[in-house]
Amino acid sequence: MQNPKTPQVSISNSKKNRTVVDVAIIGGGFSGTVLAVQLLRRSQGLSIGVIDKSSIPGRGLAYSTQYNCHLLNVPAGNMSALQDDHMHFLRWARANCGPAVHAESFVPRMAYGRYIGSLLEESAMQQGGHSLQWSQEEAVSLTRENGRPIVLLKSGRELQAEVVILAIGNFPPGNPKISGLTGPRKKYVPFAWSPAALEGLDPNGSVLLIGSGLTSIDLAIALQARKFQGRIQIISRHGLIPQRHQATERWPQFWHEGSPRSIRGLMHLIRKQVRAAAAKGIDWRAVINALRPVAQDIWKSLPQEERARFLRHARPYWEVHRHRIAFEIHNIVSRLISNGRLTIHAGRITEYSEVGDQAVVVYSDRKCGTKHRLRVDRVINCTGSEADCRRIDDSLLVSLFLQGEARPDPLFLGLDVDSKGSVLNFNGVPSNSLFAIGPVKKGGLWETTAVPEIRKQAADLAEHIVHWLAYRSNSRQKNTVVEATA
Ligand SMILES: Cc1cc2nc3c(=O)[nH]c(=O)nc-3n(C[C@H](O)[C@H](O)[C@H](O)COP(=O)(O)OP(=O)(O)OC[C@H]3O[C@@H](n4cnc5c(N)ncnc54)[C@H](O)[C@@H]3O)c2cc1C
Repeated sequence: MQNPKTPQVSISNSKKNRTVVDVAIIGGGFSGTVLAVQLLRRSQGLSIGVIDKSSIPGRGLAYSTQYNCHLLNVPAGNMSALQDDHMHFLRWARANCGPAVHAESFVPRMAYGRYIGSLLEESAMQQGGHSLQWSQEEAVSLTRENGRPIVLLKSGRELQAEVVILAIGNFPPGNPKISGLTGPRKKYVPFAWSPAALEGLDPNGSVLLIGSGLTSIDLAIALQARKFQGRIQIISRHGLIPQRHQATERWPQFWHEGSPRSIRGLMHLIRKQVRAAAAKGIDWRAVINALRPVAQDIWKSLPQEERARFLRHARPYWEVHRHRIAFEIHNIVSRLISNGRLTIHAGRITEYSEVGDQAVVVYSDRKCGTKHRLRVDRVINCTGSEADCRRIDDSLLVSLFLQGEARPDPLFLGLDVDSKGSVLNFNGVPSNSLFAIGPVKKGGLWETTAVPEIRKQAADLAEHIVHWLAYRSNSRQKNTVVEATA
C-alpha cells in the first residue's frame, strides 16, 4: 500500500492519464475506508482505488476534528468498524487510549479516526501493500467506455474500474433561506466545519449558531476548548438540543410488521411504550434503543406520504432523542446554559443584515411570534447536511443526474438505491457497476449514517462485489474459450 498519509495514484495503463483498477471508491471517509478494508480482507489480488478530496483515510467530516474534547456520540462497545467482530474497537481503544476504556465509554472522535486509519493500513499490509491505491483528488464526473465506468478526476486524470462505489457521505449544508443572506457575507460562515469558522473571534465577543443539533453542540464545545468567554446563542425552529445518553435496562422489541404504518400511529405506540417502561422504572431511552435495530424496517414499511410527514413534523423530535450526546458533553452544555453564557432560542430567522462590525439577525419567536433582534460578531451555519440533493452544487452528482446514471430518491434525501446498494439509473434500472454506501442511501433506509449501520453495509457490499467480479471474470473467460474454439 502506498502511504495513506501521502496519497498518490500510480499510472498503470498505456493511456498516460488513466489508472485501471477493479474497484474505484469515491470518498474515503468511514464508509469508503471500511468498504476498502472489507474488500481487502475478502479478496487476494483485487485492485482498489480510493479517491478522496480532502481527508486522510477514514477521517471524513466526523473523525477529522482537531479537538480532543469532541467525543463519539455512540459508546465504544458499539463502534467497531467490523461487522463480524463487534468488540474490535473496544480492544483497540483499550490498547491505544488506555485500559480504563469500557464498553460504555465515549472516546474522542480523533482517536476513532486513528483507529479507522490503522485498520486500513493493517488490512493493506496483509495484502502485501499492492492492492490499494489512495488518491487525494476530487471525482468530478463519470463516463463509460464499452460499458465500463471511468471516473474523471479534477486534475484531468482518470480511473477506470469494473465497479465504482459512491461513498460520498453527508451532503454539505445548504444556506438557510433568509432575506439578506443570498450571497456571501462578511460576518456569516456558511460551513461550520471550515477551519476558519472560529478563527479571529474576539474571546469576549458573541456568536450565533443557526441550528441546535450535534453540529452546534460541537461548536459550543470547541469554543469552550478555545477559552472563549463571550456569549454563545443558538437558534433553531424548535429550539431542541440533543438529549444525553444514560445507561438503562433493555426494553423488549415492540415494533412488528403489524404495527401502525403512519407517523401518528407510531408516535402513539412509542408514547404508550414509554409510559409502560416508566411504570416499571425503565428510562425512555430503552424504548428508543429498542427501535434502533428495526429503524430501517419501520422506514421501509411507511408509505411515501408518511415518510414525508415524518420529515415535516416528527424529525426534530426524533433526532434529539435518537442522536444523543455523551454525559460529559451534556454537562458542559448545561454548565454553559446555567452560567448564562449559552442561550437557546426557538424561532424562525426572517432577516439578516450587517451593521458596522456586527451581524443583525431578526427572528420571530416560535411561541408568540414576537420579533426579536440579535446583534452578534459572527453567525455560523450549523444546520447540518443539506436535506435536498437537488440543491447541492456538486459536479459529480450533477454529472450522474445529467447522464441518467443516477436519480434522486422520491424525497430527494439522496440517491435512489436498491437493497444490494446498486444505484438506480434515470429509468429505475439497478446498475451492476455503480453502487452506493452510507448517508446517500437515506431516502430508502433513513437510518444509514452511523457506524453500526454502515459497517454492515460495507461487509454486505464487499461480499456482493467480490462474488459479482468473480462471476463476471468467469463468464468472460468462458466466452473467450467459446470464441477461440468456434
Ligand atoms: C460531526 C459528526 C460526528 C459523528 N459522530 C458519530 C459517532 O460518534 N458515532 C457514529 O456512529 N456516527 C457518527 N457520525 C455519523 C457519520 O456520518 C458516520 O459515522 C460516517 O462518518 C459517515 O461516513 P461517510 O464516509 O459515509 O461520510 P463522510 O465522513 O462525510 O466521508 C465522505 C468522504 O467523501 C469525500 N468526497 C465526497 N465527494 C467526493 C468527490 N466527488 N470526490 C472525492 N471525494 C469526495 C469527502 O471529502 C469525505 O472525505 C458523526 C457524523 C458527524 C458529521
